[in-house]
Amino acid sequence: MRTFFSEDSRLRQARSELHDGTLVSPFECPERMDLVLAALAQANIEVQAPQAYGLDPVLAVHDADYVAFLEGCWQAWQAAGHEGEAIPNIWPARTLRGDRIPSSVSGQLGYYALAAETSISEGTFAAAMASKDTALAAVEHTLATGEPSFGLCRPPGHHAAFDQFGGYCFFNNAAIAAQRALASGMHRVAVLDVDFHHGNGTQQIFYQRDDVLFASLHGDPDVTFPYFSGYADETGEGKGEGYTLNYPLPPGTSVARWMAALDDALTRIAQAECELVVVSLGVDIFEGDPISAFTFQHADFTALGQRLAQCGLSCVFLLEGGYAVGDIGVNVVNVLQGFGAGAR
Ligand SMILES: [Zn+2]
Repeated sequence: MRTFFSEDSRLRQARSELHDGTLVSPFECPERMDLVLAALAQANIEVQAPQAYGLDPVLAVHDADYVAFLEGCWQAWQAAGHEGEAIPNIWPARTLRGDRIPSSVSGQLGYYALAAETSISEGTFAAAMASKDTALAAVEHTLATGEPSFGLCRPPGHHAAFDQFGGYCFFNNAAIAAQRALASGMHRVAVLDVDFHHGNGTQQIFYQRDDVLFASLHGDPDVTFPYFSGYADETGEGKGEGYTLNYPLPPGTSVARWMAALDDALTRIAQAECELVVVSLGVDIFEGDPISAFTFQHADFTALGQRLAQCGLSCVFLLEGGYAVGDIGVNVVNVLQGFGAGAR
């Protein structure tokens, strides 16, 4: 499968993540890429660097002020004399005003962040740019050839909303790719999110639209990050009603039950006559993942790829989460190879 990766995605070298009350080394680390690259090499899957696509495709789904904030945040944080990485500690929470964007970088961080685990540091913006270029190169390849593609994106994207970052995500790679497919002339595309966590950002960006069907299988937000999004009664709004599908599943959900939910999502995607599926491929559904609670084994990822191939639609795979670092490579490659085998 044609695969894209940008070395610039390594420029994000964050040191701190607020996790369970402690500052830890981020789970979303550059080593994740090394292990996927090693597994791709072992499977004889060649990797190609993406070209640069600039900011226009980003601005097609994200707020311009938000993008400017991300670009200048680290410099502003340093200019304010702060020593550590940029981490928010105040938000326009329910009892505060949400209609003001403070001029202080500390206030802006809270305004544009949806969670506190994700720090911003030198190289974060450059890596986010590289990640969305990777996604765009993948979708362009599929649009041009009809062949499937894989974007080895880092940082991930599905938690990034119209004007918010968090959950390790800054630009919503899947949304950017889906929007690009529509701009090429497609009438409707699907984003199928199989990451363990709800793709709140993708849902929010397309919630009122019927040209993107968003379907997500994920840990029940009642007990799982991002807690405030991803319930079954979130189904879209206005003309987007019915074009958001959420399948919240309890911790420990069996693979059989998960696959049944997938089959339902694929049926709905087919009924909606989607011309392309952007797969938000999080492999943190693996049983050994340190921050997730599903039960996939290595072979189940192959089965997942096969099921997706059987739906007969063009697929663009974009990496989201996956933090059992030693296993991330084999799990990703198994999906891609399963897809290849299933399509034959
Ligand atoms: Zn995840």
